[in-house]
Amino acid sequence: MDIKQTIIDKIEAYDRIIISRHIRPDGDAVGSTMGLKAVLQASYPNKEIYLVNQDECEYMAFLGNGTDIIDDSMYADALMIVVDTSSLNRISNDKYALAQELIKIDHHIDHTPYGDYSWVEEQRSSACEMIADLCITYSDRLILDKQSATYIFAGMVTDSGRFRYRSVSGETMRLAGSLLDYGIDTDMLYAQLYLDDYASLKYASYVYEKMQLTDNGVVHIYISIETREQFGISFEEACNVVSLLDSIKGCIVWIGFIQCDDGTVRVRLRSRFMTINQLAEKYGGGGHDCAAGATLDNQEQIIGLVEQADSMVAEYKATYSSWL
Ligand code: AMP
Repeated sequence: MDIKQTIIDKIEAYDRIIISRHIRPDGDAVGSTMGLKAVLQASYPNKEIYLVNQDECEYMAFLGNGTDIIDDSMYADALMIVVDTSSLNRISNDKYALAQELIKIDHHIDHTPYGDYSWVEEQRSSACEMIADLCITYSDRLILDKQSATYIFAGMVTDSGRFRYRSVSGETMRLAGSLLDYGIDTDMLYAQLYLDDYASLKYASYVYEKMQLTDNGVVHIYISIETREQFGISFEEACNVVSLLDSIKGCIVWIGFIQCDDGTVRVRLRSRFMTINQLAEKYGGGGHDCAAGATLDNQEQIIGLVEQADSMVAEYKATYSSWL
């Protein structure tokens, strides 16, 4: 049977549904889960629909906090739906195993399949795109409205680099168009997503001053705990460093190394034209072709990763001519 049909059947079979997403959630994780929760609540008012996570996303806080607190005993006869999360150990809810059945809905590479039912489409630009697809496919049963469409659209926008990434297809735009028909206030949405405060722009100026460039065009920067403190910014704001480096001609790989409170280093790897996730995997991480990440323990690993990225860029540039 078609997996989307199976998912709808399961949703209809359960009286209680618990939704979750990945740890350190991004816009897609937030939008897809808040959107799914809102759609299911509107469509099935007699069911209990919960969104249960262990952490939140600062830059999506304007959407409101949709997280519920429930008792462990509520899992036993519940259906759990985990969205945008590639592996069990990244679920932002360590009670998932208590649920009666588990559904995975994701667009990451399926290295570690899980769940009783799994709908994974790696070519999708976002998990929100999949939720939009589910809603539009089953529009006779699933009720979208302006609010839920806004949640889902917000995730599509943020995970596709504002519809710029290669993963954006005609289908992505058709689904986004269907969501816009619900009257999303895009002025307010984009203002929430684009406007920066003073401290962030001061941080950006520091990043542009301190960023480093390798011989072949890898731009990278290391952000220490002290730097975060100096600018009075959160860990999450510090991690946004990677998006500041994405528009430099010839730099087809860019990397942010951000020191975590426990001393480990979060690596955020990005590329255009060439793929980079194989490098993240070498360091125990993973991700998409052009957006990947890993966690490192020491400076030697940072130096090694930059050197390998530089070699990969050199090889790519020697092989292909159509990059910028
Ligand atoms: P980020 O830079 O955190 O936005 O991550 C980009 C992509 O890489 C995400 O889609 C994650 O799934 C993946 N990723 C990031 N960090 C890790 C990690 N430590 N292990 C596996 N995958 C990761």
